[in-house]
Amino acid sequence: MKFATLKKSLLYIIIFLILVYFATKVFIDSQVKHQNGLNTPVVDISQFNISDAPVAITNISVLSTDSSEMLDNQTVLIKNGLISKIGSELQVPGDYTKVDGSGKFLIPGLADTHAHTYNSKNDLLLYIVNGVTQIAILSSHPEMLEWRKDAKNGAISPQIFLSTGGLNSKYGFMSVVRSWFGSHPGINTAEQAREAVEIYKEQGFDVIKAYEYLNRESYFAMVEEAKKQHFPVSGHIPEEVTLDEIYHSGQSHLAHVEELVKGSMRQYNALDNRKNLSYLQYLNNNADDIAKKVKAGNISISTTVWLMESLPQQRFDLENFLKTIELEYENPGVIEGSVFASGWLPGSNRYESQVRDLSTEDREISRQFTDEYVQAIYIMTKALVDNDVILLAGSDSNTAGTIAGFSMHDEFQSLSNAGLSNSQILHSATLAPSKWMGFNSGQIAEGMRADLVILDNNPLLDIKNTRSINAVILNGKLMTREVLDDILSQIKKANNSAREISIEQYL
Ligand SMILES: [Zn+2]
Repeated sequence: MKFATLKKSLLYIIIFLILVYFATKVFIDSQVKHQNGLNTPVVDISQFNISDAPVAITNISVLSTDSSEMLDNQTVLIKNGLISKIGSELQVPGDYTKVDGSGKFLIPGLADTHAHTYNSKNDLLLYIVNGVTQIAILSSHPEMLEWRKDAKNGAISPQIFLSTGGLNSKYGFMSVVRSWFGSHPGINTAEQAREAVEIYKEQGFDVIKAYEYLNRESYFAMVEEAKKQHFPVSGHIPEEVTLDEIYHSGQSHLAHVEELVKGSMRQYNALDNRKNLSYLQYLNNNADDIAKKVKAGNISISTTVWLMESLPQQRFDLENFLKTIELEYENPGVIEGSVFASGWLPGSNRYESQVRDLSTEDREISRQFTDEYVQAIYIMTKALVDNDVILLAGSDSNTAGTIAGFSMHDEFQSLSNAGLSNSQILHSATLAPSKWMGFNSGQIAEGMRADLVILDNNPLLDIKNTRSINAVILNGKLMTREVLDDILSQIKKANNSAREISIEQYL
């Protein structure tokens, strides 16, 4: 072959490869956009009638600051976004919007301390509609720093506490390919870990998150550097790190109660479905000991019990499970997933697919394992609360089956099933998270931010009553039931306009 011809062929090959690269990139971008919910129109909040006039709620029962009782016949004055006065014999100034609280109950705005929102901005409204006025987003997309700023500046949004994405180690060719398409190439060395801490701190995240596949070297370098920089560490327990090493690692938050169960299963060698039969007995004997060490290590824990409780049904009875949740409000992109990400529906649901191809015998073993796993989560959760560990209500929202805002009320029911009192549940969803995230909210007291929920029924009598939302007050702005319903119907409309797979059979 002549040199000139060879040069020409090479040029064609290069052009072809460049075209393939861009075509692949366009395809991947469109899939990622869909799975993250970006194709769903964002509801325009300015269309709703939300006033920021001062508000007086009269004659209402108010949750005490320790969440233990209702204080009857209170008047609460709200001005400039704050609770300005509380008392039983207050005069209401003429310019206040009066809300008659007779027969109703006032609780602080709730928290989801384990949220994922992807790019689904309508989720911020789903939280508000459900009385959730503070969230910790435990995975990040760049624009969330903007969301957090907007929330601080008075947007209709929960207050946001923002984590980095989970730090993982990644190896091999695929990690290089991923990095071409914008995904993090992975933290594989102590040096890279320290560098990541510095960069994320600089970017202004509130907390840095360790993930399952972070290697030992990187993990310990990360927590050490984070400590130097006063940057709290959250996340999972990496597989290469033992439970005993976690207690005094400096990591101050665990993303799930499940982390302790998994850690102790690893120690007991019970992660294999077939070997776990005596594990529950082991955990029963050791859960208090684990909880005491967690307490001594000053580690607080997000709960995410409901996601675990949903696993038996998501794995073995998915169609019926989907009928029990408010699926119409979940961003259709997240439900449908993409070529790269699992969704929630049959055929793409990640929990269902874990058992789909098992033999009848193995399915049975897995079913038993799943049931016992849920029992283990209950045992651990109860031990944690009994030993005064700081429990933070969280739902892992947007993971299969957990719908932003709605999932917190599911979570409360699960915490009740695990043995928490209604007062403990409310504390874990109000004051405890506010303290953890550093927000001036979470209790009804003068000078606190006016993030409040008016309920028709008393949640101390039955935790289901957190669902009986009559109005939400966000940063002093009153949102009546009518406004909340309007927002919900607009979200439903936006979702339906972006839906590619019908969910009719689950409604
Ligand atoms: Zn999560």
